[in-house]
Amino acid sequence: MVSSGKLHPVVLIPGDGIGPEVTHAVIRILEAAAAPLRWQEARAGIAALEAGGEVLPEETLEAVRRTGVALKGPCTTPVGKGFSSVNVQMRKKLNLYASVRPVRSIGGVPTRFENVDLVIIRENTEGLYSGAENRVTDDVVISLKVATESACNRIAHWAFRYATQRSRHKVTVFHKANIMKLSDGIFMDAAERVHARDYPNIEYEQRIIDAGCMRLVQDPTQFDVLLLENLYGDVLSDLAAGLVGGLGVVPGANYGEDCALFEAVHGSAPDIAGQDVANPLALLMSAVMMLNHLAQEREDECASVCSERIKNAYNRALHDGQKTRDLGGELGIEAFADAVIERLA
Ligand code: NAD
Repeated sequence: MVSSGKLHPVVLIPGDGIGPEVTHAVIRILEAAAAPLRWQEARAGIAALEAGGEVLPEETLEAVRRTGVALKGPCTTPVGKGFSSVNVQMRKKLNLYASVRPVRSIGGVPTRFENVDLVIIRENTEGLYSGAENRVTDDVVISLKVATESACNRIAHWAFRYATQRSRHKVTVFHKANIMKLSDGIFMDAAERVHARDYPNIEYEQRIIDAGCMRLVQDPTQFDVLLLENLYGDVLSDLAAGLVGGLGVVPGANYGEDCALFEAVHGSAPDIAGQDVANPLALLMSAVMMLNHLAQEREDECASVCSERIKNAYNRALHDGQKTRDLGGELGIEAFADAVIERLA
């Protein structure tokens, strides 16, 4: 095994609901694989409130700014009333503007389609997630959909650069600019402009989102990289997860200029928390993305080797039928982690 001897400090946020359970299993696998990481645990979400602090403590944000990298479990956001989303706040305060979610068919997880290989790139800081909601009269509330030219340009550049670096062939924007002519209009225009000016190497197309969704569920293999504004990216991520086996197998990363935060697409799943039935694979895959990020950004061969070992081990486990219940298996969280650890070569 290649060892650089260097340990990267990483902030670990276990989160709420199934967060602590899946995080525990993932840490065990990372440690068994001798990942070159040093954890700094921090709180966010209900866990932070229960510890007597703010829902998103300043020291948690500071820790992520300092280390530049975090692995995060899901955080609960109450529906309707209560505090505003920790996840949204964190992405905004750390300026993690690009969310990346690779959605791939996985051997050993049979689904309706084979060979799905999509990457969802979601603008993470504006749109209807601006939090600008007002009650105008007793009868009327409004939510503002915010789009700025600078953020639209920024995510468009990011998406085409990503597509080029990863040798992807096509970027598709899903939009509703026929109705939201200004907000979705500038998102689409930015992508069109960036493509025409800087990325003729990549194919580009635009689809109205409703028709695009129909095509996506009919044949996901016709798409490659999907570039979406915030809410569409959120919805499409879960839809696409459903094409490859569900939320238990889709990882994610949130990138900014100065830091990166890795988390699964799924939420805190209160319906199954504490029952030893959640799938830790999505968070494990997010940790693998984190190791690849460290390998690339900090030129650490050890992180790269470690990520490959873990990936091979979970692929072998799935191939051998070692699966959690969401994938039709019978294993609990730690039992699945054991199956992966046993297969670390
Ligand atoms: P969810 O993603 O938590 O769960 C949706 C369904 O998928 C549930 O039936 C759940 O049991 C199942 N599921 C999710 N993850 C799973 C896993 N790893 N293994 C097996 N099954 C899994 O979505 P929700 O129920 O709509 O949201 C619950 C809470 O999570 C909400 O408070 C929401 O705001 C929050 N949330 C947080 C994040 C985040 O922290 N990034 C993302 C999405 C939702």
